[in-house]
Amino acid sequence: MFATRFAPSPTGYLHRGHAYSALTAFAAAQDAGGRFVLRIEDIDATRCRPEFEVGIHEDLAWLGLSWEQPVRRQSEHRDDYQAALARLEAEGLLYRCFRTRKEVAEAMVSAPHGAMEVFRGAALPPDEEARRLAAGGPFAWRLSLDAASRTLGGFGGLTFTEEGEGVVSARPELGGDVVLARKDVGVAYHLAVTVDDALQGITHVIRGRDLFEATHVQRLLQALLGLPEPIYRHHALLTGPDGKRYAKRDHAETLRSLRERGMSAAELRKELGFE
Ligand code: GLU
Repeated sequence: MFATRFAPSPTGYLHRGHAYSALTAFAAAQDAGGRFVLRIEDIDATRCRPEFEVGIHEDLAWLGLSWEQPVRRQSEHRDDYQAALARLEAEGLLYRCFRTRKEVAEAMVSAPHGAMEVFRGAALPPDEEARRLAAGGPFAWRLSLDAASRTLGGFGGLTFTEEGEGVVSARPELGGDVVLARKDVGVAYHLAVTVDDALQGITHVIRGRDLFEATHVQRLLQALLGLPEPIYRHHALLTGPDGKRYAKRDHAETLRSLRERGMSAAELRKELGFE
């Protein structure tokens, strides 16, 4: 059965960009007579706040959306992420990375044909690693692209389906050896999203174009963990009158502020192209 989701992080109040994304996913679920799931991506307790989570529910209800209960909150499912991590580790696909942020930045290399620099590394020699562990040095778990490539016999056969574009070659090398478990919170975005999309039976991942690159890594994790492959639809990002995309960091006007100024949900839906 068709199932899609809206997966915000409660690190701020929602703005028009979120409303557009949520409405897009919700409309797709309705058109397909499928499921619409809200997921709260709150693994980073230092950045998430309860009032933002309450705000997400209020804003989406105001917009006229309804979603399945219970709502999955990532902070309550650490065991699921640990299980996936343990499996990848048992298969020799991960290594501990003790480097500081600065050391990682200094070791970045250009990805093949990629615009961005990425990190590629390897486990420390066993005695050095044992010494670091004994000293209590904090570490992140990173996915080894070299090991992943060996397991899959290269990434040549790895693809995903982007609606409207067809079959796309997945190029996880563009992301480097991504962190799957952060030093501070014990899990990381790509792992939690991939595990949750599978556990929640998501058949269609509908989200903004800003997350297109993330798909390369998430597709690789699906292949390594033997998880089903959803279809992707990355919608164009909504831009404001200045031509810039709405973003929390630019203090885009929040939905609650629009509401306080007297805008109705019907007006906003119309502005965003959902009548
Ligand atoms: N939690 C992510 C965000 O707020 C979205 C994750 C996703 O849709 O895959 O940007």
